[in-house]
Formats: sequence, C-alpha cells, structure tokens
Amino acid sequence: MFDSLSDRLTGALKDLRGKGRLSDADIDRTSREIRLALLEADVSLPVVRTFIARIKERSKGAEVSAALNPAQQVVKIVNEELVGILGGETRRVQFAKNPPTIVMLAGLQGAGKTTLAGKLGNWFSQQGHTPILVACDLQRPGAVSQLQIVGERAGVPVFAPHAGTSVGGEGELGISSGDPVEVARAGVEEARRLQHDVVIIDTAGRLGIDEELMRQASDIRDATQPDEVLFVVDAMIGQDAVSTAEAFQEGVGFTGVVLTKLDGDARGGAALSVREITGRPIMFASSGEKLEDFDVFHPDRMASRILGMGDVLSLIEQAEQHWDAQQAEATAAKITQGELTLEDFLEQMLMIRKMGPIGNILGMLPGAGQMKDALSQVDDKQLDRVQAIIRGMTPAERDNPKIINASRRLRIANGSGVAVSEVNQLVDRFYDARKMMAQMSGRMGMGGVTNRKN
Ligand code: GDP
Repeated sequence: MFDSLSDRLTGALKDLRGKGRLSDADIDRTSREIRLALLEADVSLPVVRTFIARIKERSKGAEVSAALNPAQQVVKIVNEELVGILGGETRRVQFAKNPPTIVMLAGLQGAGKTTLAGKLGNWFSQQGHTPILVACDLQRPGAVSQLQIVGERAGVPVFAPHAGTSVGGEGELGISSGDPVEVARAGVEEARRLQHDVVIIDTAGRLGIDEELMRQASDIRDATQPDEVLFVVDAMIGQDAVSTAEAFQEGVGFTGVVLTKLDGDARGGAALSVREITGRPIMFASSGEKLEDFDVFHPDRMASRILGMGDVLSLIEQAEQHWDAQQAEATAAKITQGELTLEDFLEQMLMIRKMGPIGNILGMLPGAGQMKDALSQVDDKQLDRVQAIIRGMTPAERDNPKIINASRRLRIANGSGVAVSEVNQLVDRFYDARKMMAQMSGRMGMGGVTNRKN
C-alpha cells in the first residue's frame, strides 16, 4: 500500500535536491510529477487538483528560510498538505455522556465490517471499556456465526438474535427471517442491562449500493441513535470507494471512516480521497485479518509514511539550526576509520543535546512509534552523568581511553561524583559502540550521510 505512490513522490522531490534556488519551472515540473503520482495512485481528480494548486501556490510564495533549503521547503509543504488531505488532527471516538456509547458499522458486503467489529471490540477492551457486539447482519449467510467467532477470539460477548450472548447457531434460530432493527434495539437494551459501556453494531452490506440496504441501515441508525456511525470501506476498491462513500453519506450519513485492507497492494488513492470528498475523518485503519492488524488512523503518521520519512522533517529543521556541517563530516570520517575518541563523542553529544530533550529527538526518527517503551527509558539525567564522566577525564584520556587504568578510573569517578563501575561501563560501551559504528558505516557507505545538501 502506498509503496508506488511513495516511490514516485520521493522521486519527484529528489530531483529538487541540491538546488540552491527553485525556479517557477522547477516547481511546475515537480507539481506535474506529483500530479501524475497521485492520479496513478487512484486519487480522485478534484482532490488532485486542489492539492496541486495548493502546493504550487505555497511553493512559489515560500519564504526564503535559513533553516531549510528550497527542496526541503517543498518537501515540508507537500507533507503538510498531505496531512491536511488526510484530515489534519487525529479524530478520537466521541463517547456518550451516558453510556453505552453506540458505534454502528455500515458499508458494502465484504468491506470488512464483521472483522472490524472484533478488532474494535478488542481495542475498546484494551482501553478499559466493556464492549458488546450486536449481530444485525442477517442477510449474509454465516455473518452471525462469523461475528460470534470473531467475538470469541477478541474475548468480547456477542448479542445475536434470540440467542442471548454468544450462544446458538443461526440455522436453528431462524435468524434469516429476523428483523435487524429489532435486533439492534434489543442489543442496546441488553448492553444497558448488563452495563456494557460500548455497543458495536454490525450491519448487513450488499454487493452494490441499493435502496433497501440504505433504508435498513438508516432504520437501525434511527432506532439506536448511535454516537458514531463508521463507514467501513475496502481501500482496494480504488475510485469506487469515493462513489460508495458519497452514496452512504447521502443514504445513511456517517461520522467517521474506517479504511480496511490497507495491507493489500492497492494504490492508496481511496485513503487520500474519501476524507477530502466527504469531509468525514478517517478514524481507524485495518491492515490484515488478525485482531492486532488495526490502529487508530493518524493523518500525520500516514503522511510521513507516504513520504517515507518518519518525522525526519522536524529533525531536518532542528538539525539545520544546530548542526555544524564541517565538524559532522570530520566525525563521520573518524567513525568510518574506527578512530572516534571520547572527545568527539562528547562534542557530538553536546551538539545533539542542543536540539532538545533526547527523548523528543529520538521520538522523531522513523520507526520511533514502535519503540515508545524503550524511548521512555532514555533520560537526560543519564546523559548528564555520561557527560560528567567524560569531562572528568584528561584530554589524553579522552583521546586514548586505553590508558585509563584502575587508579585513573578511581580519580575520574571521584571527580565526577559517580561510582567506579559507571566509569568502567562507559569505557567498555564506548569501545563496543565505536566498533559497531565503524562496521555499520562500512556497510552503509557512510561517507555521504553528512552531505545532506547535495
Ligand atoms: P463484511 O461483509 O463487511 O462483514 O466483511 P468481512 O468482515 O466478512 O470481511 C470480508 C473479507 O475481508 C474477509 O475474508 C476478511 O477476513 C477480509 N478482511 C477484512 N479486513 C481485512 C484487512 O484489513 N485486510 C485483509 N487482507 N483482509 C481483510
């Protein structure tokens, strides 16, 4: 998903690199390439038009910034506009003042509603809620038992017609003749009785849009007065996602969108069009068949993913302000040759720390989202101690830590107010890190890393 869009967008933006100044022709050419990339990704035409107009306007009028070169500025604008198209702020679930909060799912058959019901149930449980699923898809054969299986997997009770919670099979219950509106109403009552604070209503879909489907969904909506109606849409259906969304908006109305099957190799245009066309936020994204393949939708993260750069943009900005390019280059050369000293290490550390608390800086790196726990352990106080230890060393010791024998270690420890074991640890880790960095830089061809401007 988004891979080819991502490749093409980064390709278009890469051409700008190394330009000290961007001409209108540069911006026109880049805009054209971005336009093609979006169209190829199946983004709908009106959305593409608005997007490109904004990029052009903002790029041409961009203030000359000391911190960013022109190419980086365009990247920043494209990123901001992508975030805007994807909805800007992350939209959270609106909980009812008086529980239960009712969440109704609507969408075409096969969109992934039943699967989503389980995922949502699981997610709400993890947030400390006590959800119940209500099976109102009485159309598709097997939908009720599918929901029961899904509920069981998620550890969430299921209210099915006549059968109470999680019991019975639909065949013996004659469910196909049941009334989904009644089931929905009874499900909400049951939730109230059993004090579940969230009710997730799975409704029937059809292969295509038809009046009967819309009427049933609106009747369920009227009967249960949901706090959220989520329109569930398969991201793989491309342009059709937009027309389906429009039809559901008109026929039923919805408060949020859930994109499913983001794991497929679809071109991603649906994600970029639905919000802009319907004005309704994308709230969740599903990316696989397993319960865990699901997450709250964050427009900023998705935009960075499309541009393939974590929050590197902010990092670029801050680095630009604090980075001493010459020094960085000299250090890179030393790293490659395995000649880094503790003095260099201290300088690097001071340079990085000028950019802000270390947790914030690391949090901006791509992939940092998955390392949240580890990052929360990184603490500025620890770094203060490391700094104090290195400062307690003589220049000769910083240059060649090998000479730091037992008596020197004791002196350094006393001078910097730490235990000898901490000095030992620092020296050992420094050797390990230097070795690892030299190996890594060899493998990655680190020579070019500091040449960001070329
Ligand atoms: P419903 O008719 O809207 O209830 O759709 P289902 O929940 O039955 O889903 C239809 C099919 O899509 C099932 O085979 C699901 O396993 C599959 N599915 C649902 N969500 C995802 C997803 O995010 N990724 C993938 N790859 N498959 C999904």
